[in-house]
Amino acid sequence: MKRLFLDYEITDLSAKVVITGEDAHHLLYATRVRKGEKFMLVDSQQKVYQGEVQECTASEVFFKLLAEVKDGNTEAAIEVVLAQCLLKGDKMDFVVQKAVELGMCKIVPVISQNCVVKLDAKKQQARQQKWQKVADEAAKQCGRTKKAEVDSCTTLKALMEQYEDYCKVLCYEDENTLAMGTALDKFGKDKYLLLIGPEGGFAPEEHKLCVEAGFHSVSLGPRILRAETAALAAMTITMFAKGDLGSE
Ligand code: SAH
Repeated sequence: MKRLFLDYEITDLSAKVVITGEDAHHLLYATRVRKGEKFMLVDSQQKVYQGEVQECTASEVFFKLLAEVKDGNTEAAIEVVLAQCLLKGDKMDFVVQKAVELGMCKIVPVISQNCVVKLDAKKQQARQQKWQKVADEAAKQCGRTKKAEVDSCTTLKALMEQYEDYCKVLCYEDENTLAMGTALDKFGKDKYLLLIGPEGGFAPEEHKLCVEAGFHSVSLGPRILRAETAALAAMTITMFAKGDLGSE
């Protein structure tokens, strides 16, 4: 069933839900919503309701609430942030979309030394807005009860100064000592920051500074993965080991 996110809390079932703006425009002219259609409506407190289209005008869609959906929450119990160094072409779109499906709460586009993609401030903002749209669509498709946030582009240096209360994992292609699973077991908490490099990998100096800043440098095995593969693998391993992927 299609899903819509509301930016306010629903306090009782008699409340009338009115969708306006871009969401309404998309419903009316792209989805061509009809009276009687049912949607999942997710409010700002991650409560899920079944709603039915009651009326449409040229720019608004009115829903009536049918029932609250119990146990509708699909968010992971752990908080995982993916920090992905900028990738070329639509690979970032791919990584953002998969990060949302795999339950990440935030995606941070990172500018590192070997990033081929060079974006000025205007382009960075435009890309962030585009990636946020990709993330919002993915959240609707996969049935999230909370949208994932796409942060603004951040330098690797700035990233190192943040997330101090997270278990910080740097996936390093030249690491051959600490496996990712071992690191998660040894240092696991309830908040994780996963850092994946660009196509050109991390510079040794970047790796050194990240380790000094408290990142655990881990291997994803003996083969060199493409960045987008490494991102998928790191997120999947984390969500399997500590999250809600493939576990009871
Ligand atoms: N250009 C480099 C590889 C970069 S791969 C080379 O060819 O040697 C892009 C990113 O994916 C890396 O920076 C790292 O974050 C991740 N990655 C790829 N393979 C990995 C592995 N076996 N272990 C840990 N991280 C890996």
